[in-house]
Amino acid sequence: MERAFWNSPYLSSLDARVLSIEGRDVVISPTIFFAESGGQESDQGRINRIEVSQATVADERIIYRLAEEPDFAVGDLVSVEIDWPRRYALMRLHFAAEIVLELFYKKFPALEKIGAHISQSKARIDFALEGNISQYFPEILQDVEQLVTADLPIESRFIDAECLRRCWYIEGFSEVPCGGTHLRTTGEVGRIRLKRNNIGAHKERVEIYLVD
Ligand SMILES: [Zn+2]
Repeated sequence: MERAFWNSPYLSSLDARVLSIEGRDVVISPTIFFAESGGQESDQGRINRIEVSQATVADERIIYRLAEEPDFAVGDLVSVEIDWPRRYALMRLHFAAEIVLELFYKKFPALEKIGAHISQSKARIDFALEGNISQYFPEILQDVEQLVTADLPIESRFIDAECLRRCWYIEGFSEVPCGGTHLRTTGEVGRIRLKRNNIGAHKERVEIYLVD
């Protein structure tokens, strides 16, 4: 199956061929419908106007569980639509998290990330750290603003096409392995706000919100 959300992350509708059906579980190709991985939540949307209730990565394939029995057959061409405002918020928050994380790593190369999650309303990154992480927010936010204002191109490409391993790359900044959907430029992240959350002994959570 072809993952069209990688090369065309801005497509919100596309016709696809049905490769298999098992009950309410279907596999299609190409697909624009992202399934949760690397902390980025799944898209929401419809296949032939039937709601997708769950999208799961299974080896090389993505399986879409429909809310109702499919009204189509293997080999049919179906229309796929994703909730674009949701996906775009996920993409902006995802990249905001990428930048924030990279900036922390640049300042503290030994810093340990212990978790991350990107939802439609916020992103979070968890660190193993003693002390209050919010003391670093002003400098991190200043660097984020600089990257956003510079509106740098973000290149997304394969590290290893066989293993479906991808990365994003910003010239003069970083190359980071990630199989998520990425923006075209840093300017699209826009303004962000950071919030600290203490989630236990020696654990610090950074929450990221879009300001506009
Ligand atoms: Zn990413």
